[in-house]
Amino acid sequence: MVLRLSPQHRQHIEFHAERCYPRECCGLILGYAEAGEKRVAEVWETENAWDDETATTFDETAEFNTQERRYTIAAEVMLEAQKTSRDRGWQILGIYHSHPNHPAIPSEVDRSWAWPQYSYVIVSVREGLAIDLRSWQLDENHQFRAETVRS
Ligand SMILES: [Zn+2]
Repeated sequence: MVLRLSPQHRQHIEFHAERCYPRECCGLILGYAEAGEKRVAEVWETENAWDDETATTFDETAEFNTQERRYTIAAEVMLEAQKTSRDRGWQILGIYHSHPNHPAIPSEVDRSWAWPQYSYVIVSVREGLAIDLRSWQLDENHQFRAETVRS
């Protein structure tokens, strides 16, 4: 499917990514499907809920478990977004996050945590500037495929 992202919504995501640099930002993309396209209606910035407490539940090195490398969205925020979407006849179309100093390509962690129904928008940020934005969606083999993004 095609992800329809207006210049304003794209800018919103890019500014958020730049503001959080060198940490990862994350957020939700709300909207609706129409004419075979996912149309973005609203972008929600969310707190990166990845913290030390979350990190200790994973058996990995401390260096990897920082907000420079990880993001997570709190369950209550997801519920709120689901409720708002339902009320407005929308759905959660996807999740965005940034990759500080890394390309806009999903990591293995991104892939293993991803849900099939969502678009995963990734913004690459280098030296504080958003330089690339791409969207990805899982295929039936749980592999990411690039999704076309149009304004
Ligand atoms: Zn990632």
